[in-house]
Amino acid sequence: MGAGVYPDPMRRKLVLFDIDGTLVTDGGASRDAFADGLATVYGYDGDIGRYDFSGKTDPQITHMVMGDHGLGAAEIDKRLTELWSHYLRGLERNATASRVRVLPGIARLLERLAADPSIMLGLLTGNIEPGARLKLGPHSLNRYFPFGAFGSDSPRREELPPIAVERAMKIDGHRFHGEEVVIIGDSIYDVRCGVPHAATTIAIASGKTSAERLRAENPTYFFASAEETEGILEALGVS
Ligand SMILES: [Mg+2]
Repeated sequence: MGAGVYPDPMRRKLVLFDIDGTLVTDGGASRDAFADGLATVYGYDGDIGRYDFSGKTDPQITHMVMGDHGLGAAEIDKRLTELWSHYLRGLERNATASRVRVLPGIARLLERLAADPSIMLGLLTGNIEPGARLKLGPHSLNRYFPFGAFGSDSPRREELPPIAVERAMKIDGHRFHGEEVVIIGDSIYDVRCGVPHAATTIAIASGKTSAERLRAENPTYFFASAEETEGILEALGVS
């Protein structure tokens, strides 16, 4: 039996990708859909352009923006379902193949990871799940991610890793622990959500957060771009 024919249990990793700024950039598709939804559902007339949404979950973004606008938490929550339905309709229109762009190096990285039997791929994102699927659909990236943990599972990102671990176990019976869980993202919150779970964190400075700020979070690994394919694969124990 040649090496790598069967997955080596010691090398198994659950690799969880963030979406915005990590896999894709949506060219403002979700920001526009969010603004439309907030205006329709809450009568919001402010400028959401001044906010940095990096690493925040969709419910957190809504609370941040509408809280600043003077709305109480209970009032915000009461209309969240209605907001999501407006938001998703807008995103469906906006998230086109020309507007959404796959970030450099990602296509090749995903190909390599999907081909390795020791790697299980999933999503860990603040997007509500249907929004995540709409952003990944235009460039057929959903096929790499049969499951994940989403902003629709919890508004708190640090609660998402155990949800992903639980779903992974239901799919293939293996419970991933500690550093076997790898969280890849472009924001300080991607790194921080891994810390309480002793997960491996890989920060990639392909989003809005500067390399300097990401490095200051002490991720397990740091890369300037997903184009550093070989370095990332080596960090994941993939040859
Ligand atoms: Mg991100």
